[in-house]
Amino acid sequence: MPDSSLRIGGFVPFTSIDYPGKLAAVIFCQGCPWRCDYCHNPHLLPAGSGDLLDWQVVLGELEKRRGFLDAVVFSGGEPTAQQALSRAMKEVSDLGFKIGLHTAGCYPERLDKLLPLLDWVGLDIKDLPKDYPALTRVANSGQQAWKSLKLLLSANIPLQVRTTVHPGIEEDQVATLCKDLAALGVKNHVLQTCRPVIGNQALQ
Ligand code: SF4
Repeated sequence: MPDSSLRIGGFVPFTSIDYPGKLAAVIFCQGCPWRCDYCHNPHLLPAGSGDLLDWQVVLGELEKRRGFLDAVVFSGGEPTAQQALSRAMKEVSDLGFKIGLHTAGCYPERLDKLLPLLDWVGLDIKDLPKDYPALTRVANSGQQAWKSLKLLLSANIPLQVRTTVHPGIEEDQVATLCKDLAALGVKNHVLQTCRPVIGNQALQ
């Protein structure tokens, strides 16, 4: 597969729960720079894998679903880890689909360039910035995620902020987090519980 193609670890051709109010397909992008203990898609974390789906095949599947689906959600892994994301989003947008993005906000500079392409974003805000490295095992990850949040708010992109209530987070931490998010102007914040690890989701 050429380097310029999006690396795809899974594809769900139909979902009604991954883009609010829309019927969508989900593309699971391969690779994430962070290593959260509670990650529900650990098979998507390595950037390379022997089990990738071909971008042109996925695009062909989407083409068949024009007029039936409203949107395509790029999920992961961390979609913004890949330089090929922008071109892939443009190709999907040219097919007439709305573009959704699930991201942890790992790369605010890249996210900034994607803003004109985005119709809706689900952003993970895992914790207060100072507490991120204990979760992600990466220094400054909290600053990156919160910078991404501010970019999305400034751009007025329809946004849902999600926080996974993991075993290491205290109740007063969650309360502070909710308060800080509200103070920044977050109107849609969802608390979700850790869910068990699931297997690979391949093209069906
Ligand atoms: S940022 Fe998301 S995809 Fe990456 S390790 Fe954490 S939970 Fe998994």
